[in-house]
Amino acid sequence: MFNVEDIRKDFPILSRKVNGKPLVYFDNAATSQTPQQVIDVIVDYYSNYNANIHRGVHSLSQEATDKYEQARKKIQTHFNAKFSHEIIFTSGTTHSINLVANGFSSILKQDDEIIVSALEHHSNIVPWQMLCERTGAILKVIPMNQEGELVMADYDKLLSKKTKLVFVNHVSNALGTINPIETIIKKAHEAGAAILVDGAQACPHIKPDVQALDVDFYVASAHKMCGPTGVGMLYGKEEWLNKLPPYQGGGEMIAEVTFEKTTYAALPHKFEAGTPNICGGIAFGAALDYMNAVGFDVIAKYEHQLLEYATEKLLEIEGLKIYGTSLNKTSVISFNLEGIHPYDVGTILDKMGIAVRTGHHCAQPIMDYYKIPGTVRASFSFYNTKEEIDSLVSAVKKANMMLA
Ligand code: PMP
Repeated sequence: MFNVEDIRKDFPILSRKVNGKPLVYFDNAATSQTPQQVIDVIVDYYSNYNANIHRGVHSLSQEATDKYEQARKKIQTHFNAKFSHEIIFTSGTTHSINLVANGFSSILKQDDEIIVSALEHHSNIVPWQMLCERTGAILKVIPMNQEGELVMADYDKLLSKKTKLVFVNHVSNALGTINPIETIIKKAHEAGAAILVDGAQACPHIKPDVQALDVDFYVASAHKMCGPTGVGMLYGKEEWLNKLPPYQGGGEMIAEVTFEKTTYAALPHKFEAGTPNICGGIAFGAALDYMNAVGFDVIAKYEHQLLEYATEKLLEIEGLKIYGTSLNKTSVISFNLEGIHPYDVGTILDKMGIAVRTGHHCAQPIMDYYKIPGTVRASFSFYNTKEEIDSLVSAVKKANMMLA
């Protein structure tokens, strides 16, 4: 049985105060909080078996290697990858995307086409622009509509034999829209293109099955799903990972090195040059254990209740506008108060202990579409409560009165 008060006891940070008020943490889409179970794993690593991996014969090194590789298997199981070597540890979503973009530099040719969506985070726009500059490929964009959804009819028109790659996020970080990735993937493949799905915002709420999706690449960051910062994953189909060249050169990723020629290590090590974030990888596995123990169905259902409640209460406030769809989305509300800059609202909320994100959320094209400088984004997690939403609503009302 899901009991939010029991869940909250797992998160030490939730009992602290900010500016003399109990912390209300509604910036979960930026970074989630960390349960004691994951903190314990981090402390255990540095207290008991901190050592470099894959290279020592000594016991500590072997222990650390075993735990790190067990974490890889946990990630494989969670995402239902066929092989554990299809899971590459990275420093996060941004690193994963750059790894793939760099790999495609040697595959794309002049006038090949890449399709991205209008709902992307900057980390899913800029690497592709850089790739186009390097290769002469052309970037095309699936437009969005007022509801913050992708215009799928236009996607059909953009696809052609020239399309080599499609990149789309599973869930928009700025609006929370859940994109129809099943259809997007199927259509990309019908056109003969590869597809990467950015799951950074989906994975805290949805458990993706990469084999059922038949996606070529899927990427995520641990820090948005109860894990630490500085670690994430790239899932790639074996055939694609074998095809792509390594991203970085260094230790760990080689089979043999001479000054004449170097041969690369097998997957996954080919893409894991240098000493990785060992503790982070192990803690990522523990975070997945934690979230799976709570259960993704339970999480999604509870967060949806929070979303519905907050949407209803916030819309009662005069002059408050919510951007994007109210239907098919995760627990994210992006809003503005008429005539008031989002930054000013965020500053007042902070004084009341409420953490929200303000600004363009690294998704400037979406803000340009709505012709706004940014929004206030409140994003809820399964450890938030209706009482906290009540605090948000009364604080927004206060901000509205003070700033109007
Ligand atoms: N894509 C999306 C949709 C995101 O929300 C984020 C993080 N805000 C990123 C990519 C980048 O993730 P990271 O900073 O962990 O690399």
